Amino acid sequence: MAGSVSRLPRDPGPAGWNALLPDAAVPVHQEGALNADWLVIGAGFAGLAAAYRLAQLCPGDRVVVLEASRVGEGPAGRNSGFMIDLPHDLASDNYGGALEADLAQTADNRRGIALAAEMARVYGLSAEAFVQSGKINGAAGPRGDRHNAEFAEHLQAMGEPFEMLDAAAMKDLTGTGYYTGGLFTPGAAMIQPALFVRSVAGGLVSNRVLVFEDSPVTGLTRKNDDWIATTPCGTVAAPQVILAVNGHLQSFGYMPRRLIHVFTYASMTRALTDEECARLGGAAVWGLTPADPLGTTVRRISGTGGDRIVIRNRFTFDPSMEVPDARLTRVGKDHDRAFADRFPMLGSIPMEYRWGGRLCLSLNNVQVVGELEPGLWSACCQNGLGTARGTLAGMLAAEAANGVTSAALERMRQAEAPKKLPPGLIARAGAAARLRWGEWRAGAEL
Ligand SMILES: Cc1cc2nc3c(=O)[nH]c(=O)nc-3n(C[C@H](O)[C@H](O)[C@H](O)COP(=O)(O)OP(=O)(O)OC[C@H]3O[C@@H](n4cnc5c(N)ncnc54)[C@H](O)[C@@H]3O)c2cc1C
Repeated sequence: MAGSVSRLPRDPGPAGWNALLPDAAVPVHQEGALNADWLVIGAGFAGLAAAYRLAQLCPGDRVVVLEASRVGEGPAGRNSGFMIDLPHDLASDNYGGALEADLAQTADNRRGIALAAEMARVYGLSAEAFVQSGKINGAAGPRGDRHNAEFAEHLQAMGEPFEMLDAAAMKDLTGTGYYTGGLFTPGAAMIQPALFVRSVAGGLVSNRVLVFEDSPVTGLTRKNDDWIATTPCGTVAAPQVILAVNGHLQSFGYMPRRLIHVFTYASMTRALTDEECARLGGAAVWGLTPADPLGTTVRRISGTGGDRIVIRNRFTFDPSMEVPDARLTRVGKDHDRAFADRFPMLGSIPMEYRWGGRLCLSLNNVQVVGELEPGLWSACCQNGLGTARGTLAGMLAAEAANGVTSAALERMRQAEAPKKLPPGLIARAGAAARLRWGEWRAGAEL
């Protein structure tokens, strides 16, 4: 299939994490007619993991990565930076699902995190970019406490370690009395997402691995034994291609009406003063996901760009994969309210950056990893957990294309395809209403 690419990515608002970092070098665009052994399209978690694994598996081969935007400006640089090992089904009440499936998913997520940890080690990333510190599910009232208790039971059944935190421990950590409890699990990694992907992309570049930015693929066609990708200033011909574009898989003509395109949003404060940090109290660095999957994620960060707080909430269903600019203003009000509820001691600290970014989900919570057509591989549809599952998908696509098998790849192979969505309007109205209902039920967690 493929042919011309129907839509290129548009990312709403500035990527705050990337804006904190020193300016990147001038981008290298793809120009002229290039040949490669491997072409990877997309330089998010999936694309970078695929390129890294290809460089390991085929050290003599030339690998070209084409990214439509700058590395760190797309969704991979826009997320909240929780690389989560445990089940994280956003459609559930408490992230958990069926025991067997959750055990397998946890093992697979850990393979993704292990590869990320390996890349962090090989490329000398700082603890600000990647650290395996675990994470907390924060509860803000009886409903959240109940979700955490249910999830803890599920973890017990899975044989997973966890620690319950009471309100006082949560206040010691976060400085706010907003949280009534917490559930700590040790396996997650925390990343500064833009620093992570920029450092990995920088580490990958060699005389064998070329990363071109601001080089969107506008067409992809098969000619004899090669796939030919067209960019605004040239072409890349390669016999093997890995599509690592998450929901934009659909823009290449694959999985029509099977992918659910959702945006979520974040705001980041300006740098806090020393006096404000002292007034807030708590630890200088922490991160919590909400006990209710549709609630508010909060990170307190301290590093490049100073001490700040990052708030993420709201999901919107946007089948066009684009959102109007006014949306950021609207959801910004929810961020300001969530901030004011949690940090009344800080008064009204302005948000310096507000942004949104795409997620790609499937109705049955499956990824699309495997061969779409001869020589054309997919590492897409990360179901909202792309830091870990995107890394896993890219790694497995590279391994599959090289005949390397594993239990994780076998599971991907045996998984169902993403379920077909019900026809147009019904799917649109139904999905939007479901998100709104879920957010309303999240109550204090939002
Ligand atoms: C505010 C927010 C918070 C989030 N928090 C978390 C979190 O805490 N933990 C977590 O796991 N996930 C989180 N996510 C989701 C996570 O960011 C995504 O799941 C992840 O980025 C997907 O990784 P990926 O590599 O598959 O795709 P992407 O990161 O989307 O990378 C795909 C790349 O392909 C490029 N591309 C698309 N089309 C083309 C083309 N035609 N030519 C060339 N390049 C193209 C895009 O520009 C993009 O850079 C969050 C997302 C947002 C927006």
